[in-house]
Amino acid sequence: MASRSPRQKVRFVLALASIATVLLQSARTVHAHDQAVFDSLRLIRTGAAEEDNLEGSRKVWFEVAGRGLYQGIGNNILVTDAKELKGSECAVSKDRLIQTNLTEIVVEHNSARFAMVIPLSVEGEVYFCLPRSAVNDDEIISPAGWYHQGTTVAILLNSTDLGPVQKHSRDVEQMENLLSKVKVHGVRVDVAPKEPHLDEYGVPYLLAGSTYTLRLFGRGFSEHTLITFTQYKGNYGDSCQIPATGVFEIVNGSLQQDSVQVVMRLPPAEQDGPFYICVREGTAKLVERVTDSRPFVHQGSEPWIRVKSFEKMVPIWAAITIICVCLCFSALFSGLNLGLMSLDRTELKILCNTGTNKEQQYAKKIQPVRNHGNYLLCSILLGNVLVNSTFTILLDDLTSGVIAVISSTLAIVMFGEITPQAICSRHGLAIGAKTIVITKLVMAVTFPLSYPISKILDVLLGEEIGSVYTRERLKELVKVTTGENDLDRDEVNIISGALELRKKAVAEVMTKIEDAFMLDYEAILNFETVSEIMKSGYSRIPVFENDRKNIVTTLYIKDLAFVDPDDNTPLKTLSQFYQNPCNFVFEDVTLDVMFKDFKEGNKGHMAFVNRVNNEGEGDPFYETIGLITLEDVIEELIQAEIMDETDVFTDNRSKRRRADRTKQDFTVFAERRGENNRIRISPQLTLAAFQYLSTSVELFKTNTISETILRRLLKQDIINHVKKTKDWRNDPLAVIYQQGKPADYFVLILEGRVEVTVGTENLMFESGAFTYFGTQALIQNVGVVESPSTLGSLQSLNMDSMLRFTFQPDYTVRACSEVLYMKVKRNLYMAAKRASLMERSQRDNTTASTDQFDDEVEKLFDDESDDFALRFEKSAVVDGTSDQLLHSLEEDGSIGTNSPEPKKRLSVHEVLVNMSQNASPKTPSVKSHLSPTVMRSFGSGGIHELNGSVKPNPMDEILSREEEKHQLLPRKS
Ligand code: ATP
Repeated sequence: MASRSPRQKVRFVLALASIATVLLQSARTVHAHDQAVFDSLRLIRTGAAEEDNLEGSRKVWFEVAGRGLYQGIGNNILVTDAKELKGSECAVSKDRLIQTNLTEIVVEHNSARFAMVIPLSVEGEVYFCLPRSAVNDDEIISPAGWYHQGTTVAILLNSTDLGPVQKHSRDVEQMENLLSKVKVHGVRVDVAPKEPHLDEYGVPYLLAGSTYTLRLFGRGFSEHTLITFTQYKGNYGDSCQIPATGVFEIVNGSLQQDSVQVVMRLPPAEQDGPFYICVREGTAKLVERVTDSRPFVHQGSEPWIRVKSFEKMVPIWAAITIICVCLCFSALFSGLNLGLMSLDRTELKILCNTGTNKEQQYAKKIQPVRNHGNYLLCSILLGNVLVNSTFTILLDDLTSGVIAVISSTLAIVMFGEITPQAICSRHGLAIGAKTIVITKLVMAVTFPLSYPISKILDVLLGEEIGSVYTRERLKELVKVTTGENDLDRDEVNIISGALELRKKAVAEVMTKIEDAFMLDYEAILNFETVSEIMKSGYSRIPVFENDRKNIVTTLYIKDLAFVDPDDNTPLKTLSQFYQNPCNFVFEDVTLDVMFKDFKEGNKGHMAFVNRVNNEGEGDPFYETIGLITLEDVIEELIQAEIMDETDVFTDNRSKRRRADRTKQDFTVFAERRGENNRIRISPQLTLAAFQYLSTSVELFKTNTISETILRRLLKQDIINHVKKTKDWRNDPLAVIYQQGKPADYFVLILEGRVEVTVGTENLMFESGAFTYFGTQALIQNVGVVESPSTLGSLQSLNMDSMLRFTFQPDYTVRACSEVLYMKVKRNLYMAAKRASLMERSQRDNTTASTDQFDDEVEKLFDDESDDFALRFEKSAVVDGTSDQLLHSLEEDGSIGTNSPEPKKRLSVHEVLVNMSQNASPKTPSVKSHLSPTVMRSFGSGGIHELNGSVKPNPMDEILSREEEKHQLLPRKS
């Protein structure tokens, strides 16, 4: 035994068990013989008892068909004249029991023949009572009771006629017929709601109450064969005493030579045992069939002609309820599986600390359970499998196998998996928290199995850590969840930028040294330098000595607070005073280190980027390659450009200028070395004059003269200086305007005081700086209409420039102290106005850069100025009649000197041709407008002098003379 394998041991035990079962069964066959039953009786003959000791008795020979007949029964048969139901106790009529004596007993299988001695005194119908107690074949036990065989088994005793009761003999005949005709050899389930199970002998289990189609195999079937089932065991030929089911007809058309089909239904088994088949040959007529009282013939008790019935484990209502519950649990488990298991420990920790109130509550509930990840997983999965299997088995019980498989698959997938998982993937936290009690219960129930498995998993897989995000992953997480999370684009950028700080080096974001605005150590902090600093817009200026790469200190713009540009302080002095330190870093220093450095602020918010230069043959040396400020680092941090109020470029590396900002350029007010100005004024005074003119004097406001042009205008030689003399009242040099003397200029007093004498009454008053005179000398001629288009305006301006008029002041302005004043001549003003128009038109049409444009304007202005001066001179020379004009020109030495041609008299034709040729080359259409007719039409009506008097226009005369005499230029329509 010891050497046997476990499998052999099991086999041995099973063999012992089956031997024991067989022995037990055979013992039962011996000791539990069925009671003897008489089914039918046939009287053979009656006669007088011939034996001496039986005098006064008669002898009756009869044959019975029945079961449980055995040899010793002859001593155990009583007859009675009392009528009782079959199977009832004979005790009721005990006094009527008649003792008989049985001789000649021949017992066969299911029949026996007896010779019974009955006293002659007994007459009429007598019935049989048989012993109730079980007996052994060999050993006769005295009966515990007697039971009646019914009135169908009877003998009619008559003193005269000793024959048997007719009806009984007929029954026996029929029975014999039947016995000889139908015999069932086997049974098979043909159609069943679901495949029946078979017991160890192949007996099918049929569900009680369900309809089955059985095929009976045997002989002697007819179309009228009737089938019923009994639970009483019997032998073939026994009559079926107590049928357990109704009577079933055979299925129409199913009759074959040796088989027939019957549709039947079994009731639940009353006693634990199989159902046996009973058969009776029916008749064709329905009525007869109903009234037919012949017994059904038992077909025997062999296993192959038995069927068994079984009832469902649970009632239908309970099954449906359990199925629903199982489905709900299946849904819950698979939902929890996804919902709880997908919430990793890190996420739960985060939710516990940062979630909403609800989320915190939920996370706190789930956390203890989720900490045992594998245990939870095993419990949930076990629970899920359990409910799914139960669901399928119950469904299988209710329906057939295929339907159960299909419907359980569909139900589990739809309601047990997909739906709950879809829901729990979004609301796993809430559902997990609300069903935590169930989860704990399942964990407790499945503990014996799930806990050990989870421990094994823990050992094999190691402890669960939860999600850990690296820098890259965190950055990507934030990026890919943009839109779903509540972060703005800027916030996402800031997070990404912060995470990338460590990866970038200063060299990647610095401003290159060649692009840096720097000052020479030797520089002088005069107005020009300070203006340049202001113009650059930077607050920290590196200061270099000799070489731009040799940075020695930094100048902070606030250091200039006490510096007066007029003092021309050397930068060196200031630097030595403040001694601002320089912060040098290597090019590979990362931005996070740089940021930390700047945060501490010990060395300021600007650092110079050094690199070791080991190119060439000499020793390696440090070389400054750029500068970096806190703003550069922060820009990388927030991934956006920061703009402050003084920034000129949006991005220093790409050199993109700010579109919305045009910086005031103070340097234009600074005096340029080498400029041939007759009189110099301070840049501050120029700036003040600029501001005053552009804001307070209508003719110089920016809509007429652009700022650029005005600046240019102020740089012209327009400043006059009147020195104070003792006899200033008689000094002709002190006169700025002479009453009645034509003047074509505008005057703005910059410094000093003037005395103004007005009208014939010589009213006098004094006036100081920033008063102006002679605006009428600059205004446009009446009749020259402003055109809405720039080109039109230019043409009319050109025209206006050619027309002359004189302005005669009705006042005298005389310097009464040392006076500095600005004198703008009409031709200069006109040129400025035209240049402004050109500038505007250029700005409208092109996107040229401001620098280019400035150059253009400068050129244009210069051209215009010369051009106008020249034309003015020519027109004046041609005219010859206007002394005032000549006066004005002579007074302006610059125009005279600018004129490249000697003064000479020209014909009218020449004047016109000159005029048309000298019109701006950029406005060729002006030419066509210079036809005499047009000129005349503009000039007609004379020129209005703004102080009241109107003088004939000298141009009119030129034009009319030209038109009449020469007709040189063709008229154009
Ligand atoms: P603040 O904003 O503190 O007044 P700032 O405007 O002068 O200083 P930052 O804002 O620190 O200068 O820097 C703006 C950009 O200008 C940065 O890209 C920086 O590299 C660059 N920058 C700063 N100073 C200079 C300079 N002197 N020359 C050239 N570029 C500079």
